[in-house]
Amino acid sequence: MSLPHDAKPNAPSDEAHKPHNFLRAIIERDLEQQGGQPERHFAGTPGDAAHHAAGPLDPARIRTRFPPEPNGYLHIGHAKSICLNFGLARDYGGICHLRFDDTNPEKEEQEYVDAIKEMVSWLGWDWNQGGTSHLFFASDYFDFMYRAAETLISAGHAYVDEQTPEQMRAHRGDFTTPGVNSPFRDLGVAHHLQRFREMRDGKHADGAMVLRAKIDMASPNINLRDPALYRIRRATHHNTGDQWCIYPMYTFAHPIEDALERISHSICTLEFEDQRPFYDWLLEHLAEGGLLAKPLPRQYEFGRLNLSYVVTSKRKLRQLVDEGHVDGWDDPRMPTLVGMRRRGYTPESIRTMVEGTGVTKQNAWLDYGVLDGCLRADLEGKAARAMAVLDPVKLKLSNYAEIFGSLEHREPSGAPAHPHLPELGQRQFSLGPELWIEREDFMEQPAKGYHRLYPGNKARLKAGYVVECTGCEKDAEGQITAVLAAIVPDTKSGTPGADAIKVKGVITWVGVHEGVAAEVRLYDRLFTEAQPDAGGRDFLEVLNPASLKVVTAYLEPSMAAVSADTKVQFERHGYFVADRVDHRAERPVFNKITGLRDGWGK
Ligand code: ATP
Ligand code: MG
Repeated sequence: MSLPHDAKPNAPSDEAHKPHNFLRAIIERDLEQQGGQPERHFAGTPGDAAHHAAGPLDPARIRTRFPPEPNGYLHIGHAKSICLNFGLARDYGGICHLRFDDTNPEKEEQEYVDAIKEMVSWLGWDWNQGGTSHLFFASDYFDFMYRAAETLISAGHAYVDEQTPEQMRAHRGDFTTPGVNSPFRDLGVAHHLQRFREMRDGKHADGAMVLRAKIDMASPNINLRDPALYRIRRATHHNTGDQWCIYPMYTFAHPIEDALERISHSICTLEFEDQRPFYDWLLEHLAEGGLLAKPLPRQYEFGRLNLSYVVTSKRKLRQLVDEGHVDGWDDPRMPTLVGMRRRGYTPESIRTMVEGTGVTKQNAWLDYGVLDGCLRADLEGKAARAMAVLDPVKLKLSNYAEIFGSLEHREPSGAPAHPHLPELGQRQFSLGPELWIEREDFMEQPAKGYHRLYPGNKARLKAGYVVECTGCEKDAEGQITAVLAAIVPDTKSGTPGADAIKVKGVITWVGVHEGVAAEVRLYDRLFTEAQPDAGGRDFLEVLNPASLKVVTAYLEPSMAAVSADTKVQFERHGYFVADRVDHRAERPVFNKITGLRDGWGK
């Protein structure tokens, strides 16, 4: 089967990894039954049955959509949905729509619309296909939704209920008790039509009445007990302003949005499984009424993705931001995509990770360690190396002037920027009489098996000389203020005979004369429990008080010039990124992305 030429998604091409799953099986079955060409007309833009009937056969073999509500920032769980919907469209010659599900006037803002678009692009997906944008707003369908509601009323499938919310709740019944019909239910089509128009025209107060579907108050599926379709709410909408004072309910709006856009496979998370009968009920009745084109979209559910040691609910993430537990939606400890980007996660690592979790009917908990593993695998082959001293103490080389003739001499040294990427070139740095080393690289009384600096022991300065430790200096409180050592002559790395003296310890260092002082932010898990909100626990009680530690570090000179967002490996410490918000050449700021090996289990 050949792909329609204009339906080929512009999308990441690096995924060779496509595990089979039940959604792929469904799509393949559907395409096979249709002989590869669905009998689905598409007019090029969303619309009703008449609109699409006039259009050609849909060049897209499937249509999927990612439908965020613009009421917050996307998180790692959304990445799963994005990669799934855009990925299936890419793989089956289809098109994926980015649709803002903006039917709720209260919580939605332009800020979120912009941020969501930016993150979908950042992950590598494009809603522009074949020269056409597939970016849609559900609020553009309000006129149609209103018409659909009147059609249902006219056909006797919907009614305006004036019971109070308490009465409605009491009459709904529960799992063991059937519901009770509303006294307003059978007042006749003309009455309900008039009432509904009054609702639209602002004749009634917020909450005074709702439009409900007339289905079955005794249904074992509570979602079919006359669900609400429209409510009165005087609120200014970010797109339609004050044009409407009634707004559709999500369960009414969402199937209609899918149908107008000719979505073939409407993929959502498991909690909507019980809504599927209503989804089908609604679309069938609107198709019968001639409003919507067949074939109708079908809904399929898959398990949500959760990440360990964080929460992934927009409400809880908002609480962390609003109450100041983190420094905003893009705090590098947040599981939001803006936070993860700032932390240094690459789009590739996030895609690999979410694709690796597969698609099942079970909600899944992903371990942060797995995510970090994907990230390390991605960064290992890309990130330039540098030396950095995060917990600095001075090392004084007592025989420096004897060896090099003067304390002013700088002995050039260098190393490849990346051990396997010669094209990244050489880093240059130099030795001087005083160096910064890690405090933990000296022990006055060495522990068993300790090979670094202690009096009488020799160790190698990385890409430098072998030095022999002679002792240390202390202040009045007994704190070590400097470590003392002597250079062993003729041991410079890379010169003949350098290896004549065998040592077991290698020390990373930065020259005091050229070290770049930097703020380094060391992150740990945000919560102390893997499932912070498990069992209804208040997740704030298990916030990790030590999730951020800020240190002043010294970096080798090559780090002075890196631009924001550059990812590097600080040798022996792990991967770091120049902070995209705060990093400046005159005041470098680096975030720790992750260590060199998995530290989550420890
Ligand atoms: P939250 O519960 O975090 O507020 P939501 O489901 O309300 O998320 P929406 O903006 O409605 O957020 O979600 C857009 C799409 O992303 C939906 O199709 C939803 O099913 C999907 N999605 C949201 N969270 C997850 C998750 N954790 N795993 C997989 N898909 C998700
Ligand atoms: Mg939602």
